Amino acid sequence: MMKKIILPALAICIASCSSDKETDAEDLINIAPKITTSELQIEEHSPEGTSIGAIAFHDDNKDDKLTISTESDAFFIDEVTGEITVGSNAILDFESTQKITLPVSVFDGTAITEKNIDLSLVDIEEYNALSLEQKELADYFKYLALWEDSNNLTSIQKWGAPMKIFLDGDITVEYRATVQGVLDEYNALFNLGDFSISLVDNLTDSNAHLYFGTTDTIENLWPDMFEIIDGKTYNGYAMTRAVNNKSNNSRIWISSSIASLFKHELGHALGLGHSNKCDTENSFMCSTISANNDFLEAEKDIIRYLYHADMTPGTTVEEINNAVGNLILLN
Ligand SMILES: [Zn+2]
Repeated sequence: MMKKIILPALAICIASCSSDKETDAEDLINIAPKITTSELQIEEHSPEGTSIGAIAFHDDNKDDKLTISTESDAFFIDEVTGEITVGSNAILDFESTQKITLPVSVFDGTAITEKNIDLSLVDIEEYNALSLEQKELADYFKYLALWEDSNNLTSIQKWGAPMKIFLDGDITVEYRATVQGVLDEYNALFNLGDFSISLVDNLTDSNAHLYFGTTDTIENLWPDMFEIIDGKTYNGYAMTRAVNNKSNNSRIWISSSIASLFKHELGHALGLGHSNKCDTENSFMCSTISANNDFLEAEKDIIRYLYHADMTPGTTVEEINNAVGNLILLN
C-alpha cells in the first residue's frame, strides 16, 4: 500500500529536478572557441618578420575575449589578430620540408581550443633570391665545380667517402708536416658534411696515392699520366676516378715542396677546376701558382658548399645555381 503513494511523488521529483538542471545548464555552458583556418602558405627562405597571414577564429559566446597563441619558437602569432610572422628560428627550406605543422590554441577565459595549422612552403628559384654578392659567389662556385675554364663538366663530381692519402716517393719529415698542415686547413672547411681527409701508412688502406718525385719518376709508375706531363712545364698533376659522379680514387704527382702546390692538386682531386681570379687575386686554383697563392675567402665557402651533405654528387649544370643558392640562403 505504501508503495503506491511514494512512487508518483518520486517520479515528479525526478522530472522536476531534471527540468531545473536543464534550464540552469543552458545559462552556464561555455561554448569553446573555434579555429577555422587549416592551412597557410609561405615562400621558402622568407626572412624573419615576414607575415604569413592571419588565422581565423571566433566564439559563439559573443562577449568572450579571445587570445590566440602558439608554443612554437620559430613563428610569432599576434594574440589578438592571429597574424603569424616568421621568427628567427624558422627554417623554411622547400627542398628539405614541404609542410610545417604549427600548433595554435585559442583561449576564451574558460576553454582552450587547439589546432594544428599546416604551413605549406612554396618553392622558389633560389638563385633569383640571392643578392648581387651572393650571385657572384654562386657563379664562381659553378665556374670551379664545373671546370668552366677547361673541361666544362655537365655535372659536379665529389668524393662519396672519406679520402685516405698514402704519401709515397721522396717524402721528408718536413714535407709530411706540410701536407698535414694543408689537410688540417681543408678538414676545417668540411664542417657541413661528413667528409674528411686523412693520411694512411700503406697503399692498401688508401684511396689516394701521392707521389713526390721528378717528372721521369712518373714514367713507370703512372704511364697514362706521364703521357700528359712529359715535355710540359707542370710541377704537379692530379688524376681522379669517379663512379656515378662520386670520386673514389686519386693519383697526385708533386715535384715541389711548396704547400700551395699540394693545396692546388688536392683542389683538383676534390673536384675543382682552375680559377679565373688570377689577375688581381692569388687564388690557390690559378693554373700558375707561387707560394703566395692560397684559399680566397670565397673559395673557402665554395669548398664548404661542395662538401655540404646536401650538395649531391651529379648535380647538373641546370640544377647547380639553385642548389648552391639554397645553401647560400640557408648558411
Ligand atoms: Zn691545376
